[in-house]
Amino acid sequence: MTGVLDIYAEFHNQTMIPKKTQHYSVIILGGGFCGIGVAKKLSKVLPKDSVALIDKKDYFDYIPGSPRQLTAKKNSLEFSSRTLYKSILPNCSIIQSSVTEINDRFVNTKVNNYSYDYLVCCTGISPALPSFARNNSKSLHVFTPTTSAQTCELGKKISNNNYESIAVIGGGFVGVEIAAELATKTSSKVVLLEPNERLLCRGLNSTSLKAARFLEKKGCILQFGKRVKDIKKNLIHCEDGSTYPASVIAWCAGISTKENSALFGKEFSLEVSDRGILVNECLQLINHPQVYCGGDLAVVPEEKTAQNAEEHAKVIYHNILTQLGYHKNLMRYKTAQTLMLIGLGDYRAILTSKNISWYGRVPALLKWLVEKWTLWKIRH
Ligand SMILES: Cc1cc2nc3c(=O)[nH]c(=O)nc-3n(C[C@H](O)[C@H](O)[C@H](O)COP(=O)(O)OP(=O)(O)OC[C@H]3O[C@@H](n4cnc5c(N)ncnc54)[C@H](O)[C@@H]3O)c2cc1C
Repeated sequence: MTGVLDIYAEFHNQTMIPKKTQHYSVIILGGGFCGIGVAKKLSKVLPKDSVALIDKKDYFDYIPGSPRQLTAKKNSLEFSSRTLYKSILPNCSIIQSSVTEINDRFVNTKVNNYSYDYLVCCTGISPALPSFARNNSKSLHVFTPTTSAQTCELGKKISNNNYESIAVIGGGFVGVEIAAELATKTSSKVVLLEPNERLLCRGLNSTSLKAARFLEKKGCILQFGKRVKDIKKNLIHCEDGSTYPASVIAWCAGISTKENSALFGKEFSLEVSDRGILVNECLQLINHPQVYCGGDLAVVPEEKTAQNAEEHAKVIYHNILTQLGYHKNLMRYKTAQTLMLIGLGDYRAILTSKNISWYGRVPALLKWLVEKWTLWKIRH
């Protein structure tokens, strides 16, 4: 009998349980900024083990700090930006597993099924790697540095091989931070290819100019109007016929909600869209008020940021408590203008919003303080 239990055990560091449906009052899928926020708050109010967090990994990843792990010495940052869920969520059941299907009563993983009264889905988004890059990503050294694990993998490759040229595809804030890290801390030639006519094209012109000036000063080659159409034998081919050699490629262009939207069963067909999961003002799925979606996966007209994901968590927490009878009214989510801090190596950053653009050492210090403060809040 123990053998059978072994096969079906999937609780991390917990007693083994056989494959059967386990019930939780609230199940949270994905322990990123939104999921961890909901899990921390709810598990302090609700009875022990009535809240479960399901995530592929067993740690919270401070993603905004991940570009610095490209060049971190001896993986020091790899570990400082990670926090084990079990150390911050003592009253919550932690289930380390990949979710394979969500329906209106159950969440299925490869091994177990879990039923819920309330479900919070915040599994985030994935990088949109085109098929020509995806099919050859290993042999052609194409990386998507969007999590600490992926960034460390690319960082190890770079430090072991001392590459002559590294290409960064995409000049959004991830591409700019990655290019700045590489240009300030490696001796490789860094080329950034951007399809638009400026970096950070969704923001202010002045922010684009400051980022471009910094990168060019550090020797980074910026190429605008370059849409990549193929990668062959370490050669990047653009739609305008130009080619760029690159020993390794950091793909920082585009996002996709497809993988995580596909987890939702057919009963959610009205709520699953190309842009993510459609939610009402209370962050509930329109036809399933017991199911919430927050963070990057939710369709909310605003930038996809960690700060916004944390704000979603507050609303979802309040609204689940309302549905459980703790409060009278549901809370509505209001989008607010957020500030962005774009890191340019260790000592410079840009603080920007709709109408502010401030470059220099002070924004870099603020970025460092925000990281310390956010990690402190999550850990305490
Ligand atoms: C390089 C980089 C730098 C950034 N810098 C900033 C910044 O400076 N400031 C800022 O505000 N924002 C920044 N962002 C954006 C910010 O990181 C995201 O908006 C935020 O992480 C979104 O939080 P989330 O809770 O929606 O999802 P995520 O943080 O992406 O978490 C999703 C979680 O779900 C889990 N998961 C996914 N699929 C499954 C599955 N099938 N089964 C189980 N678990 C699953 C994942 O393991 C993960 O833990 C940055 C993003 C990147 C990539």
